[in-house]
Amino acid sequence: MTGSDTRTDSIPERFVVLLVDDQAMVAEGVRRELESESDIEFHYCPDPREALDRAAEIEATVILQDLVMPDVDGLMLLRFYRANPATRDIPVIVLSSKEDPVTKSEAFSQGANDYLVKLPDRIELIARIRAHSRSYMAQKERDAAYQALREMQAQLERSNEQLEKSNRELQRLSSLDGLTGIANRRQFDKALEREWQRALRNCTEVALVMVDIDYFKRYNDTYGHQAGDDCLRAVAHALDHVVYRPSDLVARYGGEEFGVILPDTDLAGARQVAEKMAEAVKRLELEHRNSRVADRVTLSIGIACAAPRGQGEAELLLSAADQALYAAKHNGRNRIEAVHLAEPAPMPAAETSTS
Ligand code: GH3
Ligand code: MG
Ligand code: MG
Repeated sequence: MTGSDTRTDSIPERFVVLLVDDQAMVAEGVRRELESESDIEFHYCPDPREALDRAAEIEATVILQDLVMPDVDGLMLLRFYRANPATRDIPVIVLSSKEDPVTKSEAFSQGANDYLVKLPDRIELIARIRAHSRSYMAQKERDAAYQALREMQAQLERSNEQLEKSNRELQRLSSLDGLTGIANRRQFDKALEREWQRALRNCTEVALVMVDIDYFKRYNDTYGHQAGDDCLRAVAHALDHVVYRPSDLVARYGGEEFGVILPDTDLAGARQVAEKMAEAVKRLELEHRNSRVADRVTLSIGIACAAPRGQGEAELLLSAADQALYAAKHNGRNRIEAVHLAEPAPMPAAETSTS
């Protein structure tokens, strides 16, 4: 470091000066003033028409600008610097031949950063070159840091979006049954609780249909586990196609058993759905030669319906539907049993229909 500089940065500073002046004499004078300063790199441009390109090319940290030149007006050149993105922020020290308040004020209004009369005092010139260059370089650093920060933020936002998307996908997958692709037990439990509470609030009914494939163990034994899986998928999709209200939910409850939640549905409505389900599976015409009730895959179905009244929990509805299903099995399979859960769940009555 030389001259009056007292900074102790480990990376040596480098100031790049561009002098734009048609007079070679002036250039020589300035060059001499700066030549002992190893941190100042001096460039000279005698042709003002090349000034913009030169400044950008050498990455000037400060421009010394003559005002009176034969072809180009120095003040106009100032406006060009300011209008050009490559030179917009480079500090410009105007070098004028006279100390004139009008010219000076005009120079500042056109974007000059400083004003010196030629030939300026050496110490003063060097001090100003350093000061203006430093503030310019600091500004550039800040801009670059802000830009990097903005890019990081944008990147972070993109990552967050991606993460949210993955989370939603994970959420979706974790609520689906791996084999059949319909809702799984987890989603079923949540939906049942939610719909029970909703029915309680709205004083509406909620119906639950439990569906079980008849003699499915025999199906596996007869046709193999792989065929059993195919059968489960086919039945699941057939059941799922029967319901159409957005709030209805068909889930794989476990094994060869399915649970269907029908919000705002009375017993008659639930029975209709159950009959359609039995019919849909019948239409699949899946051979089951070792079933004891038919030569095709059939269902036993238990229905329960309740209007929650504050006492009792969703579990009541579930166990009532289970009892209805048990009754359907007990009464010969391939049939639908129903129970309306007005008060504490009774054992299902003899309301039976065979498909
Ligand atoms: P019931 O008529 O009384 O319902 O008799 P069932 O044989 O259908 O009922 P059980 O509960 O005795 O047997 C259910 C069978 O379902 C046993 C099991 O091998 C089969 N199963 C359960 N989950 C799967 C599965 O994911 N894939 C296959 N292929 N079979 C399954
Ligand atoms: Mg079964
Ligand atoms: Mg079963």
